[in-house]
Amino acid sequence: MARRKFIVGTNFKMNGSRAFLQDLVENLNRADLDSNVGNEEVHPIFISPPSLYIEHVRQNLRKDIAVGGQNCFWKSSGAFTGEISAEMLKDVGADYVILGHTERRTLFKESDTDIGLKVVHALQTGLKVIACIGETLSERESNTTLQVLFRQLQAIIDHVQNLDLNQEEKWKDLVIAYEPVWAIGTGRVAAPEQAQEVHAAIRRRVGEICGLEVAETVRIIYGGSVNLGNALQLARERDVDGLFVGGASLRPEFVQIYMGAG
Ligand code: PEP
Repeated sequence: MARRKFIVGTNFKMNGSRAFLQDLVENLNRADLDSNVGNEEVHPIFISPPSLYIEHVRQNLRKDIAVGGQNCFWKSSGAFTGEISAEMLKDVGADYVILGHTERRTLFKESDTDIGLKVVHALQTGLKVIACIGETLSERESNTTLQVLFRQLQAIIDHVQNLDLNQEEKWKDLVIAYEPVWAIGTGRVAAPEQAQEVHAAIRRRVGEICGLEVAETVRIIYGGSVNLGNALQLARERDVDGLFVGGASLRPEFVQIYMGAG
């Protein structure tokens, strides 16, 4: 089987300004990336600025780096004040969208079902989706990690499996991000073997529900306090198919994470 395409993505969250992002774009445009890095067929990379700045970033950023949104709603348009749609993200040049991030789940009370609906709508619109799942520290400490992850995963799978497409088409643009909540923004990264154990369990679960072929091809990426010091070790794990970077993506080291971890 061909190696799964290693993907590195970032989440800028609600950070940056036009001037800050312009500097960051120029820094990326100058970076001497390895020829495979940024090749959508081999090693895709994307950055996710706040949605207001996506168009500006897309217009100014080198084309081998994709741009993504951090959220979108599950309707195309209508009376949904404050929301943006997957269609709008596409319209301003985004190729990716992050859905189900823990901050959306906890601060904005998004349910598993909301996330399932968003995932299918974004896929149908033609966006590539990074669907996040993760357990809290207390869930890990009470040994319910897999129970929580499988519940979150099931809601995504139930919606995706309902799409009127063949299995390959349903899954080709969907990436699962394992983001332990206790590792996000805390500096407390999962040990590579901890990440591997969970990624392998998620893959097994996908296999049980969707079949071996989907399980072998779906990409499962790790996010949570990834930095230059730990990226390579995490990336070496068999079932870690990419990295999702928050805080470090706003610092110059993120260019090296792209380069080093593939
Ligand atoms: C995130 O919020 O998705 C994330 C991975 O953040 P950090 O890298 O800062 O832990």
